[in-house]
This record gives sequence, C-alpha cells and structure tokens, in this order.
Amino acid sequence: MPPLLALMRELFTLAPLPAHAGFWAVVLFMFGACIGSFLNVCIYRLPRGLSLSNPRRSFCFTCKTPIAWYDNLPLVSYLWLGGRCRHCETPYSMRYFWVELATGLLFAAGLFLFGADLVPLCVYLALASSLTVVFLIDVDRQIIPDSISLGGLAAGLLFSCVAWLVPLSPRLPVQHPGEALLGAAVGYGVLWIVRWAGTLLFRKEAMGLGDLKLLAMLGSWIGWESALYTVVLSAFLGSVVGIAGKLVALARKQGYGALTEVPYGPYLSLAGLFAFIYSDALHRFFTMVILREGVA
Ligand SMILES: [Zn+2]
Repeated sequence: MPPLLALMRELFTLAPLPAHAGFWAVVLFMFGACIGSFLNVCIYRLPRGLSLSNPRRSFCFTCKTPIAWYDNLPLVSYLWLGGRCRHCETPYSMRYFWVELATGLLFAAGLFLFGADLVPLCVYLALASSLTVVFLIDVDRQIIPDSISLGGLAAGLLFSCVAWLVPLSPRLPVQHPGEALLGAAVGYGVLWIVRWAGTLLFRKEAMGLGDLKLLAMLGSWIGWESALYTVVLSAFLGSVVGIAGKLVALARKQGYGALTEVPYGPYLSLAGLFAFIYSDALHRFFTMVILREGVA
C-alpha cells in the first residue's frame, strides 16, 4: 500500500474501545449536553463582561423570569417547550439547542477517538468545550476572550509541568514545559508574521491580536509543529469555505463583496482541535510532504 494511503487509513482508525462502550458513549453524550448548556451561558455572558456564576440561574431575556431547573434540561426542555419561554412565550434561538447537541456529540466522539486513555480524553473534552465557545463568540462579535486564550495558555503551561513530573500518557503531544513554551511562542510568532505581512500588503489590519493569543494557547497544548500544521489547515479550511461562500454569493447575485469579512478564530479552533486529535498522523503526513520521505 502506498505510504500516504496507509497513513490516511491509520488517521481514521478509531481507538480501541473500553468495555460497555455504548453505555459510556451515552453517558458522555448526556454529560456533554449539560456542558453545552453551560457553554451557551459562556457564549452569551463572556463577551458582555457578565459574571458566569451570578446570577446562577439563567433567566428569560424578555420577561426576566428565572428559568426553573425543569425548564433548563439540556436538549429536552427546548423540544418540550417548543423553543419558547414558558411564561411569555418569546421564542429562543435554535442555536441553544444545536450547541447542546454538538457538545454532546463532540463528547461522545471523544470515546471513539481516545478510548479509555483518560488523560488525553479529558484534555480533548476541555479543548473541545473552550474552542466551541471561541468559535461562536468570534462568529458573533469578532473577538476572542482573553479569559479563554490567555487562561488556556496558563493552563497549558501548568499542565505541561504536571506531564513532565508525572508521565501521564504517550498520546499527549506536549510532555515538557519547554515544549509548551516553544509551542506558544511559535504559535504567536508565526501569526504575528502573517499579520505583519498582511497589514503591509492590504494596508489594513489583517488579523486581530485575539487570533495570535488563541494560537499561542493552542501551541501550549499541541506543540510547535502542530501549531504550524494548524495554520496550514485553518488557511486551507478558510479558503475552501471562502471560495464556496463567494460562489454562493455570485450565484445569488449578491455581488463579489458579500461574505468577505469572516473571522479567523473559528477556523483556528477547528484546525487546532483536529491537530490535537491527530498530532502524530499530521506530523508524519507533513514530514512526508515536506521531506518527500517514503513517497518514492
Ligand atoms: Zn419570558
């Protein structure tokens, strides 16, 4: 088999599953849906500078009635109440439901990606949750909260110290504080160069500083090589979506200018999570491509 094909096959091979995998997948899905409910709160409150813990209970934006626990069950309540407030019947955005569902699915997917390898699984769950919040806040408001990027960077540096002192799992891409620091520096540095060149070329700010901080955070968890792969992957993803968007805009005769102001954070988030899951395979793929190793 050609090495590239063998690699692709390995890339999408799932982790060996623990006993009662179906049961655990359902547990993870339900846990994820609950976390998704909390992520919805973060997505709304973080960019508005509101406290995550106060008020503890969510309330209806229209009639200000606090939402009872039985009306706040992830997924179920939305369907049960038809996506409306029980009191004033204001319709809520369908997105609350989709975020809970997506988080549930992401969590359940973790079991198939990492099996019973608990430490990388937990890191994956934390990254997937944070990046979901970054993704949607950036789509909404074109900002990435420092609390997630810089907070996640601090957590990444701290975690690398733990991984260095206590061997946790060979599947973690970063095993040493030096690797975490280098990952953060390369992540920040490479986007700094891209931003500098872009600003020079287009004579306007090509990228927000939030994107630089986000890739610094990701770099502390995935290492410097994967931080570079994340840039390549996100640029590729962004181009595909951008070109598709332009074609759709052209087809609808909205003109060429529509859909150009797209934030970069969502692509970085997707690519970064992918790079964490498949760091080994990506590394071998890129060494094959760059060094032409084993291609002949
Ligand atoms: Zn209401």
